[in-house]
Amino acid sequence: VHFKEFKLEEKILRAIEQLGYTEPTEVQQKVIPVVLEKQDVLVKSKTGSGKTASFATPLCELVDWEENKPQALVLTPTRELAVQVQEDITNIGRYKRIKGLALYGKSPFARQKLALKQKTHIIVGTPGRVLDHIEKGTLDVSKIEYLVIDEADEMLNMGFLEQVESIIKLLPKTRTTMLFSATLSEQIKKLSSKYMKQAVSIEI
Ligand code: AMP
Repeated sequence: VHFKEFKLEEKILRAIEQLGYTEPTEVQQKVIPVVLEKQDVLVKSKTGSGKTASFATPLCELVDWEENKPQALVLTPTRELAVQVQEDITNIGRYKRIKGLALYGKSPFARQKLALKQKTHIIVGTPGRVLDHIEKGTLDVSKIEYLVIDEADEMLNMGFLEQVESIIKLLPKTRTTMLFSATLSEQIKKLSSKYMKQAVSIEI
């Protein structure tokens, strides 16, 4: 299997090649085609499996460069992961000039507010700060078509369930939702059945 077998534009393929990814990992082989068809996915996979690129690649492909409002939202449990995911998106979306922005707490709100005035395709952030921006009107979610809940089990362990649910309720109903978790507990399954439609289950 090669990345060329997915329906990806040349600009995305070129960026992936430059990152030195020759063959898609197992999670990428399974997740990329499903997300490209805009189907919801529930993915059980660990860090190190290449899960970030499994959602970052189709997101970079699917977002419309022309649109000024954010089209994708990735929720992460930590600031470090938000920054990492944002960097991966920037790398994969390099030639399509995809703009990703990381939003996290304990960092000046005003600077993030200013950054949000610029064209941004993909927002990556921790739940508290993302919710704060939505509620204050500095993050417009009216055009969000894609939602990724990354490391969902960690998110719940850290007590972010309520904030995650508050965010989801503010997003457009017509969207593609992806949930990634190292474990699939009853709580995770409940979250997925509550907010996803006919999700494809993928276990690595
Ligand atoms: P992740 O599971 O997303 O944290 O990724 C783990 C590491 O694998 C990261 O350093 C990626 O840059 C790398 N990686 C992701 N996809 C591939 C691939 N298809 N081929 C080689 N390395 C990859």
